Amino acid sequence: MNKLKEKIRDIPDFPKPGIIFKDITPLVKDPVAVRLAVHHLLHPFLEKDITAVAGMEARGFIFGALVAWELGLPFVPLRKPGKLPYDVQSVSYDLEYGSATLEAHSDAFETGDRVLLIDDLLATGGTAKASCELVEKLGATVEACAFVVELDFLKGREKLEAYEVHSLLHF
Ligand code: AMP
Repeated sequence: MNKLKEKIRDIPDFPKPGIIFKDITPLVKDPVAVRLAVHHLLHPFLEKDITAVAGMEARGFIFGALVAWELGLPFVPLRKPGKLPYDVQSVSYDLEYGSATLEAHSDAFETGDRVLLIDDLLATGGTAKASCELVEKLGATVEACAFVVELDFLKGREKLEAYEVHSLLHF
């Protein structure tokens, strides 16, 4: 895991002062690191009966699609508003300043789908919690949430206490 941790680059004061942005581009530039990350992301769920993988825009698409490919399962993108062309369902959630919305196609899941949610990073948990609500609104169940990076000090896991949460790297 230390090899993976070395591939996460800290960018201070991005996108605004006081935030240390965890940049995953050095990791995705390295095919061996990507393979390792995908292996560890999906490993805890091999025995579970997952039927679909969903990823949050945008960096959740990278890891989510790779996990779905590896498991041979459908991938569902959870997108920012106005990007999806068909009928959508949406969930809005509060940010520090203002709010954000995630959307998915209304036919994205089959009824009863058991979904593994994937994002690059768990911070305050607002995005992941809204994603879980969106999956449930669409008639599916969240089996677990998996992240490459978790910022432990932001306690995002507490917002997800109803769900199984798995993270590869803790800061
Ligand atoms: P949150 O809703 O606070 O858990 O934020 C999670 C979402 O915001 C994820 O999709 C991350 O990609 C992004 N994010 C939040 N904080 C950071 C950070 N410090 N570095 C990189 N991405 C972040």
